[in-house]
Amino acid sequence: MIKDLHNKLINKEITAVALAEEYFAAIEKNDKDIFAYLTLTRDLALEQARMVDGKIARGEEIGILEGIPGVVKDNLCVAGVRTTAASKILDNYIAPYDATAVARLKEAGAVILGKANMDEFAMGSSTEHSAYGPTKNPVDLGRVPGGSSGGSAAAVAAGEAVWALGTDTGGSIRQPASFCGVVGLKPTYGRVSRYGAIAMASSLDQIGPITKTVEDAAIVLSVISGEDKMDSTSAQSPAKDYTKFLTGSVAGMKIGVVKGYADSLGEEAKASFEKVVEKYKELGAEIQEIELPNVKYSLPVYYIIMPCEVSSNLARFDGVKYGMRAVDHKNTVLDFEPENRTLIETYLDSRRYGLGAETKRRIMLGTYALSSGYYDAYYLRAQKVRTLIKRDFEKAFEEVDLILTPTTPSPAFKFGEKSADPIEMYLEDVFTITANIVGVPAISVPGPLVEVDGKLLPQGFQLSAKWFDEENLLRAAHTYEIN
Ligand code: GLN
Repeated sequence: MIKDLHNKLINKEITAVALAEEYFAAIEKNDKDIFAYLTLTRDLALEQARMVDGKIARGEEIGILEGIPGVVKDNLCVAGVRTTAASKILDNYIAPYDATAVARLKEAGAVILGKANMDEFAMGSSTEHSAYGPTKNPVDLGRVPGGSSGGSAAAVAAGEAVWALGTDTGGSIRQPASFCGVVGLKPTYGRVSRYGAIAMASSLDQIGPITKTVEDAAIVLSVISGEDKMDSTSAQSPAKDYTKFLTGSVAGMKIGVVKGYADSLGEEAKASFEKVVEKYKELGAEIQEIELPNVKYSLPVYYIIMPCEVSSNLARFDGVKYGMRAVDHKNTVLDFEPENRTLIETYLDSRRYGLGAETKRRIMLGTYALSSGYYDAYYLRAQKVRTLIKRDFEKAFEEVDLILTPTTPSPAFKFGEKSADPIEMYLEDVFTITANIVGVPAISVPGPLVEVDGKLLPQGFQLSAKWFDEENLLRAAHTYEIN
């Protein structure tokens, strides 16, 4: 898709300004229903597009992403643009600088249309936790788009953006991609700089692309990846042109399928997954059953480590340094007048009125788990089990090149179906969180559709690869897609 648009631009069949306008028109038409966008950056987009048109008019060569319109998740800083992370506490926050991934996209000439809706601070699996209201799934407006990068996935699926940036701490790129029928890639931890991403859980967070095709994901990754001095965890490996590895063949590749994984799926989702396994066999891959004995602890490990890191990362939102301060809110609990607040009451009330229920739940869980006397029993222990899970993966990758699993237990669910019970919602993450716990790259690719209540819904499958082996990951995903 990006290549086609690029060709249209260089053949002067369309201008970059006209292309941006086309996408703004699609947003105008569809986004009242879908609500993928929190903010539009029209001036910025048109300025970028005009620059590209100028280059084309002068006969200069343009890069593959130049003039191609996309959307950035609202927890990534874009200089001069409102950046809320879908939280009221950052309602009026204007980012003073660009996230590195954003800066690299701008340098590559990509056109930024706006900022995408998400679950508040990236916590959730449905965008129902956005303080500004949920995004709807373009495939079925009665269903969630997934989360937390639900706005990013919905925008791409609805033709409101060609590419999107998301973040993925436990599945937030891959699960919404699966629900909306698009491609979502979580790179290896360290592959993409996290500088300028509003941190959720720093040892798990990673930025990545959501696109219509695997090739497009490879194009975006090539631009945003690479070492960055502003993020000490970014890997010292230079950016590569990942499209070079899309050879269209998986012959001789070894793909591991985890024993017992498919059993937890519903019948329809299981059938969809089995078709994927069959197809890889037909394409010449060698399928091998593998065991990951400690992955059964992934969910508890994640739901200890993540809230601990959340509670410390979100401590900075206190109504003093950033965003909303409780000055106008009358305190309905203690019933005192706003102007009489002490400093501590200002902190407490800014957080009380600025943060949503799910965010508060995780801050409380994390604060508890980190508190003295509990730290060893929870956080430290979870880190030890994390090492065991990592060893499972190291062992598995001695035998196979890739691991194939479903992305989610089922296709997109309806609004309200899981929001009343946090545990139900957390179970959504069972297949995706392991890649974050151990740091490997993983991608969700649309698989065979699944029928639910007489309607065909997208269902993705997930491939994960060895640390920093995005080459083989993208190659295998691409081979499935084009066959
Ligand atoms: N759904 C997961 C959670 O709620 C993942 C979130 C994410 O990846 N940002 O924590």
